[in-house]
Amino acid sequence: MNLPEVKKNEIYTMEITGMTHEGQGVGRINDFTVFVDEAVKGEVVKVKIIKVNKSYSIGKLMEIVEVSSDRCEPFCTSYKFCGGCNLQHIDYSAQLKFKTDTVKENLKRIGKLEDIVVHDTIGMETPLYYRNKAQYPVGMTGEKLAIGFYSRRSHEIIDSATCNIQDKVSNHIRSLVREFIEENKITVYDENSGNGLVRHVVTRTGFKTGEVMVVIVINGKELPHKQKLIEVLTNKKLGSSDDSGIKEGPEYRIQSVILNINTQNTNIIFGNKNIKIYGKDTIIDYIGKFKFNISPLSFYQVNPLQTEVLYGKALEFASLSGKEIVFDIYCGIGTISLFLSEKALKVYGVEVVEEAITDARKNAEINNINNVEFIVGEAEKVIPQLYEQGIKADVVVVDPPRKGCDEVLLQTLVNMQPKRIVYVSCNPSTLARDLNYLASNGFKVIEVQPVDMFPWTSHVETVTVLYREV
Ligand code: SAH
Repeated sequence: MNLPEVKKNEIYTMEITGMTHEGQGVGRINDFTVFVDEAVKGEVVKVKIIKVNKSYSIGKLMEIVEVSSDRCEPFCTSYKFCGGCNLQHIDYSAQLKFKTDTVKENLKRIGKLEDIVVHDTIGMETPLYYRNKAQYPVGMTGEKLAIGFYSRRSHEIIDSATCNIQDKVSNHIRSLVREFIEENKITVYDENSGNGLVRHVVTRTGFKTGEVMVVIVINGKELPHKQKLIEVLTNKKLGSSDDSGIKEGPEYRIQSVILNINTQNTNIIFGNKNIKIYGKDTIIDYIGKFKFNISPLSFYQVNPLQTEVLYGKALEFASLSGKEIVFDIYCGIGTISLFLSEKALKVYGVEVVEEAITDARKNAEINNINNVEFIVGEAEKVIPQLYEQGIKADVVVVDPPRKGCDEVLLQTLVNMQPKRIVYVSCNPSTLARDLNYLASNGFKVIEVQPVDMFPWTSHVETVTVLYREV
């Protein structure tokens, strides 16, 4: 039996021999596994054991005895506490390599897929201010109002001054909302008691249009003094994305202020009901030449620059001639569908969120695209129904959430036998599981391209193409 040979509160010197997919360093002490936050593969470190479980323990980094050449100084003063980033202590090129290795390792271990072509991860030229969406929890930290990010392993709110991966305007809006809450003595939510009003401030920005949406999530039906909030948000100039000095962009304007009602005791940010209190119901942004309407509850990729790279790859992998019927499964607001539509005979988009499908239909219309049809429902129900009706795809694109594709859907694709499947994934482990299923049922994995959508975090996005074996 593997009895833990490490003791809590003892200090040990150990070598970091690997990294977990969450970016922790990992190594062994007396043949027992130890995970260490912020330790880098190849380093020798001193750790204090803070937790011992049956099969692993957690060490706190005390001193770096031998420093990895991949290590760099985190640029954020809140990095140690904030739950947002977890790779800021590793330089950017090493992060990209880490992501490529993570994909390869998953394909091998979970997918049982050897010798697959996994290209180097495509990174960003300047990996800063890249997020178009910020979700700030609101609460009290002690006696102080806190609007920020959850800390690494708890729901304590870290009220960091700025966040350099968020677009600058979101930091600005956060301070305006703070001003409003303080001046008008608005209560803020307490998770434990379920009391207090304001729960989250969510901002969304169209990088190409400058349109900004602010969503205030409240635990109640009304926001007192809401007219004052609108004044605070709309009276001042918000600057432009040029202010960051790294990207061009128009002046920002608040185009939409929404109250979202969430009175449930839950970790899910949004409730189902939105009340518009200023401007429009949606904002507009462009990806490439296509224009998109975005609603508060619809999924929209958070890194618009890299989204263009990702979709470009998906389109290249789909290798369309203009004669194909294409399914875009898990289509969100129809972004990939529109990208594919120009080169396809017809595209069917399938998505479970009704609001997203409303956006998708509108998006086809405002881009004058007539060969797309959007269907609301669960992919694992809708696709088998289409197949039963004799509607089959020549090429399928899937872009599921983190849990991957439902097996019923994969089974239907196997029966349908499209020529190609393009699999866009935000989770290499469920990707590997699903590729294993498809590879065991008549499809060959041709190549995998990771794209870095989330610099300074361990998240990895990939696009993979499979061909039907004839
Ligand atoms: N392709 C889109 C969205 C990808 S995110 C884009 O690039 O923007 C995954 C989407 O799958 C989300 O919009 C989510 O609402 C949707 N979804 C989740 N479970 C689903 C299911 N069972 N059936 C259909 N869509 C689902």
